[in-house]
Amino acid sequence: MIGIVIVSHSRKLSDGLKEIADAMSGAPVPIASAGGVDDPENPLGTDGIRILDAIREVMSDEGVLIFADLGSARLNAEMALDLLEPEEQTMVRFCDAPIVEGVLAATVQIAAGGSMEAAMKEARQSVQLEPDAEQPALEPSNSISRSFTIRTLLGLHARPAALLVRKMNAFAGDIRIANTTKGHKTANAKSINSVMLLEVAANDEISISTGPEQAEAVFAAVEDLIKDNFGEEGIAPAKADPASVPSQDQAPAPSGTITQGELSGLSIARGFAIGPIHHVGGALQSAEPVAIENPDAEIERFTKALSEAENQISLAISKAGDNINAHDRKIFDAHISCLRDPDLISAVKTRISSEHICAEAVWREEIVRLSGIYSALEDRLLRERAGDIIDVGRRVLAILSGDQSDDGQMTKPAILAYEELRPSDILSLDHGAVLGICTMLGGETSHAAILASALDIPVVFALGADLASVPEEQSVLLDGSEARIVIDPDENTLAKAEQDRKILKDRLARAEEVRHLPAEMLDGHKVRAAANMASISELEGITASGAEEVGLLRTEFLFMQRDAAPGEDEQYDIYRSIVTGLAGRPLTIRTADIGGDKPVPYLDRPPEDNPNLGWRGIRYSLSMPDFFKTQLAAILRASAHGPVRIMFPLVSTLEEVMAGKAMVRDVMEQLRTRGQSFDAHLEVGLMIEVPAAADLANRFAQEVDFLSIGTNDLTQYMLATDRANPNVRSLYDPLHPAVLHMIAKVIRAAHDEGKWVGMCGTLAGDTGALPLLAGLGLDEFSMPPSGIAEFKLAFCQLRLRECKTLAETVLQLDTASRVREQLALFRQKQLVQA
Ligand code: PEP
Ligand code: MG
Repeated sequence: MIGIVIVSHSRKLSDGLKEIADAMSGAPVPIASAGGVDDPENPLGTDGIRILDAIREVMSDEGVLIFADLGSARLNAEMALDLLEPEEQTMVRFCDAPIVEGVLAATVQIAAGGSMEAAMKEARQSVQLEPDAEQPALEPSNSISRSFTIRTLLGLHARPAALLVRKMNAFAGDIRIANTTKGHKTANAKSINSVMLLEVAANDEISISTGPEQAEAVFAAVEDLIKDNFGEEGIAPAKADPASVPSQDQAPAPSGTITQGELSGLSIARGFAIGPIHHVGGALQSAEPVAIENPDAEIERFTKALSEAENQISLAISKAGDNINAHDRKIFDAHISCLRDPDLISAVKTRISSEHICAEAVWREEIVRLSGIYSALEDRLLRERAGDIIDVGRRVLAILSGDQSDDGQMTKPAILAYEELRPSDILSLDHGAVLGICTMLGGETSHAAILASALDIPVVFALGADLASVPEEQSVLLDGSEARIVIDPDENTLAKAEQDRKILKDRLARAEEVRHLPAEMLDGHKVRAAANMASISELEGITASGAEEVGLLRTEFLFMQRDAAPGEDEQYDIYRSIVTGLAGRPLTIRTADIGGDKPVPYLDRPPEDNPNLGWRGIRYSLSMPDFFKTQLAAILRASAHGPVRIMFPLVSTLEEVMAGKAMVRDVMEQLRTRGQSFDAHLEVGLMIEVPAAADLANRFAQEVDFLSIGTNDLTQYMLATDRANPNVRSLYDPLHPAVLHMIAKVIRAAHDEGKWVGMCGTLAGDTGALPLLAGLGLDEFSMPPSGIAEFKLAFCQLRLRECKTLAETVLQLDTASRVREQLALFRQKQLVQA
């Protein structure tokens, strides 16, 4: 085998380079390091004798290739050459390539069985900036392509690239490789430089093309490498592929088409719906590269698809009329400008002409490339453009393929299926046409879940990736009570669902009778039943729900779905309308809890590794005094129109409470100066969501008028369990005894200070936990308005003394399942007594 000698002034460099080359070659390419001189004082230099020894060490009939760094290294190597026998001298060649890239490229080429010329050519090409410009492309009409996703942690870096090149060199015919994710031109898969210059990163998609006679064998070889992860440690997690709906946790791949059976998940809102399923968003349709005969005709087909797509968008805008808000209009405008983008269009047309590949495949690759560029950007707003590009990509692909069953538009009432529901999806729903909602991913206390539960339709989350395999328009039963969907339900299933629906209806009818009565136990103990609210559109539902007050207005939702934060007057108008609409029922306005899982893109916040532990809640507001004061001024002005409370979210230190209160006082002063009225005695409280605040609840209670326990976050922080991460869903449990101990402690501490305590986390609406929470002494239960009537029905059947005994028993238990058992036992006893 051809040998390599590395002549460098630095021994460290030549030894290190040999080490990398040895690792890359995978086959025993003889490499000798001849770097440095034996002088500890001045180790930099080259030594003719050392070089001579190195040449002899790797000499064989096939010759030796020498790489040298600086001029004198070459001179010393030539001197060493002079000391060889004449016939040996003819076997040695110098290579002028850059030493590092050259040695690595030549090593791979030699390992793959390349000749001296091929190795020198590879070495010289090692720093060209364009991949393999000289190599003519395979005729697409004579070639077959297949796509592969690279999952090695560092992509096709030197070692895996070398392995691929070696494997490809074992085949006789031409083999081309393209990085379809990055959109580079195709390159020679037998050239290490060409492959490395494709910059294939983890999760990039590559396409391998070759002649039909060897295609299957080549693809099998690539598949073997991928299966073996190229001999590398570690597989990159599937990325939030720009071609799919962004999500925190990638759903595993679905397993084909599912037209029967059932999927189960998490109940977010009860009730039943039967109807066709409609998948919203999702991944780009696939498009195999098919060879075409007539590029001009293909370009014309592509151009027509673009104008058809534009027509569809214009039609959607005009159909929506006044119902389309400025934000949605901008999204559509962005889609149209993408359809007209000259660079994108010309890239597709040029590739159709030169590569003779169908428009679908080229368009898809360009869309993936473009959205990939956007998703990699720092700027959050620009990153979000990736989603628009994918949307446009889907629309055009649907037109090109003639399959427009999934163009994101709802034409009739349907059950919507999402990969993961985002709060913004709910805010833009066509309420009349949505029978129910189901998702592949999502947690029950995510903000999307909270908003979805207020919709009054059945909602089931976390059905898993198989949901994607349920065909569009397939008839399904969505059973929110049992947290499942039944695909193509048979008559028995429908009959049973009908029966369950009746039972639910009966219970709701009984609940209806107590809806507007006070929440009062058999022995006269009373609490306040309150509603959680996130938008003014819920006002009517809240007043009709029987809620005595609003225990939580999540104001951050006023900041979403727009391009800029609402100003003081706009916020004031909204708060005032709610206060007056509530007609005397107190309104607890939580100052904006921005951050965490409630991002507001235009606020231009840097991405955070751990947003739930980051710049959110009161932390954000306090560091943005203008933003905070604007909101406080609007809230205070609204307090002139009815009972209003201010509540601070995510408090963890006493200093934050003091700073928040000081800010309220400052704004009151400002309003006095402006001559604007407000309620100077309005209650100021805070949420207990952080264990530190729960632990110090007595001190916090001294500083405010009330506490409200946010069990969604308190559970997440107590148990170190992301509330929206389905992988740790089984750990996320507000009935964990440690969480219950904290709740008990907070209630006791507040009462000791003479303050009232509410709860506005999801646990407050859990009728199973209700006797326990009542027994612990909770004063206000704030929940989705849809739960108020049933809450009152359950509450009015209780006796405080029994609830207290239950609470004492439960606080002795050490697991959540024992707590559940105890609660179930209590319920059974009640049923027997009733
Ligand atoms: C909570 O954390 O329990 C809470 C009510 O706040 P949010 O769910 O809005 O974070
Ligand atoms: Mg919270």
